[in-house]
Amino acid sequence: MSAARPQDERLLATFLDLVRIYGPSGSEAPVAAYCARALEEAGCEVRFDDSAVVTGSDTGNLIAQLRGDAPATLVLSAHLDTVEPAGGVEPVVRGGVVLSAGDTILGADDKAGLAAAIECVRRLAESDGPRPNVRCVFTVQEEVGLTGAKALDPVDAQGDLCLVLDADGAPGGIVIGAPTHYTFTARFTGRAAHAGVRPEDGISAIAMAAWAIARLPIGRIDEMTTANVGTVHGGTA
Ligand SMILES: [Zn+2]
Repeated sequence: MSAARPQDERLLATFLDLVRIYGPSGSEAPVAAYCARALEEAGCEVRFDDSAVVTGSDTGNLIAQLRGDAPATLVLSAHLDTVEPAGGVEPVVRGGVVLSAGDTILGADDKAGLAAAIECVRRLAESDGPRPNVRCVFTVQEEVGLTGAKALDPVDAQGDLCLVLDADGAPGGIVIGAPTHYTFTARFTGRAAHAGVRPEDGISAIAMAAWAIARLPIGRIDEMTTANVGTVHGGTA
């Protein structure tokens, strides 16, 4: 990113600030506080919804409103949390690209989205022409099942155009579909028997589960589908 214009310098600085703030799923408050301050300075009214009661996060979803003078509302959405290891991120700018210096993720997912939304609000606030109402909706716990988005009041996400800034690929591309996932739990119940006296009466639940798992298609099943066995637990001596 050869940040020639002051606005581009500001965007890069915001992104570098954000990636240095530790904010894994459930502990998004410091990231949210940074975003709230930046959006307030840009002229937004900022509030947090009461989703923390449902999500258990240390903050609610952030809702920021920049009043415009055109009868339309643009919604910009991004998520506040990152996956681990998210602590101690030290970004390095090399050859126009921002990288993580150490053994951590960079956290561009989704701090790039947060920084882009904040910069978009700043530029609209600074523009002279008529502008739409802009609402930023920054959610918690995206990485652990979209918990924050699910707890959102749909009214807060309503607008004439909603852009979710959470995808990779070339600038200008848009994503119009996303995967979903299904999970299921299988329970195997065996039958205890004395190992030395009547082992033939016993049924091993672990052996049953292993037999079943060995027959499951795992990994990439077809062009559109992947499958995985997540956790296995159980058994007694
Ligand atoms: Zn993301």
